Amino acid sequence: AWATVPAGPPDPILGITEAFKADKDPRKINLGVGAYRDEHGKPYVLQTVKKAEELVLSQNPGKEYLGITGLPEFTARAALLAYGAESAPLQQGSVSVTQAISGTGALRIGGAFLARHYPHSKEIYVPAPTWGNHIPLFRDAGLDVKFYRYFNKSTVDLDFEGLKADLLAAPEGAIVLLHACAHNPTGIDPTPEQWAVISDIVKEKKLFPFFDMAYQGFASGNTARDAFALRHFVAQGHQVAVAQSFAKNMGLYGERTGAFSLTVSDPEEKARVDSQLKIIIRPMYSNPPAYGARIASAILGDPALYGQWETEVKGMADRIISMREKVYSLLTNDLKTPGEWGHIKSQIGMFSYTGLQTAQTKTLAQKAHVYMTADGRISMAGLNDGNVEYFAQSVDAAVRG
Ligand code: PMP
Repeated sequence: AWATVPAGPPDPILGITEAFKADKDPRKINLGVGAYRDEHGKPYVLQTVKKAEELVLSQNPGKEYLGITGLPEFTARAALLAYGAESAPLQQGSVSVTQAISGTGALRIGGAFLARHYPHSKEIYVPAPTWGNHIPLFRDAGLDVKFYRYFNKSTVDLDFEGLKADLLAAPEGAIVLLHACAHNPTGIDPTPEQWAVISDIVKEKKLFPFFDMAYQGFASGNTARDAFALRHFVAQGHQVAVAQSFAKNMGLYGERTGAFSLTVSDPEEKARVDSQLKIIIRPMYSNPPAYGARIASAILGDPALYGQWETEVKGMADRIISMREKVYSLLTNDLKTPGEWGHIKSQIGMFSYTGLQTAQTKTLAQKAHVYMTADGRISMAGLNDGNVEYFAQSVDAAVRG
């Protein structure tokens, strides 16, 4: 039956992990995958997650199904984390929210809901570049993916003029995907002033803003600060859609814990939207996994655990920031590597877009056993005091050719 099925290309990021695993050199470094590593390069389970697990198990929750839209206390707390207690739609009962299979699942439900019910457009504008999975994910959900300029290669910075021009040129009513913070892959976020301008353009062009919030807390170490863009848009009266992930900020990667929400006009509209979210989810996967949602809900719902969690998120963010400073200082001051490396220090979140060329990334893999995506993106979390000097020396050698 499958004689005519063509072989597809391997996943660009998971392919790197395979090459890394096959490499036997003890100096090897994997900077491909976006998962936090501790100062010893090891995967990290948050202390607050361990405490929450004990709490959850002591309550003996069993293994029954959750409802179609998940664990109600989790979704309520997730929405509160994103929108903030001051948010008018939350206070008015005008946020429709469902649990989702992490950020990817939230984006997919959102894409499907917009494709089916958003009356003004089937086009979604995503930044160029964006997280690679956005493109097939929204296409498979039934949307037509278009791009707006985001990255200026020559300045290794935000192409704000290009971004504004492309959003102004987009058809009225189109959907626009915004990374709420810690843009992946570039690590470059608009400033608060620039967000205010983007909000005005979105209003003027009646665009529909869809926030992908995969790194709340991970960018600055402060969950409220990282929610600035979303909260500003809501305060400006926009109706928004939001995809939240707890993969990075709680380290719940494989537990697939996330939420999708929409702000709506009133509780009556919310009831109709809620019913349609269920109609989308039920034939897709029936109901979401319970365990991660219980953990996240326990953390978000307990003031002491919540405080410890914020400290832990800040610890992860700070370790990454200190690695940025170290790489910058090694390349600029110690090795005097040709080129300008300030962007490594100023970029935000898990990733840095180094500006290294594809050929240089290949050399780094083959000669130095240092693995990253072909576009020169590195996961900063893969660096630590034990490997950062070797990394900088390897980059220096690759740049000098
Ligand atoms: N959006 C962005 C921008 C991401 O970087 C990621 C994680 N790589 C996700 C969404 C979703 O990840 P997950 O499905 O694991 O929550």
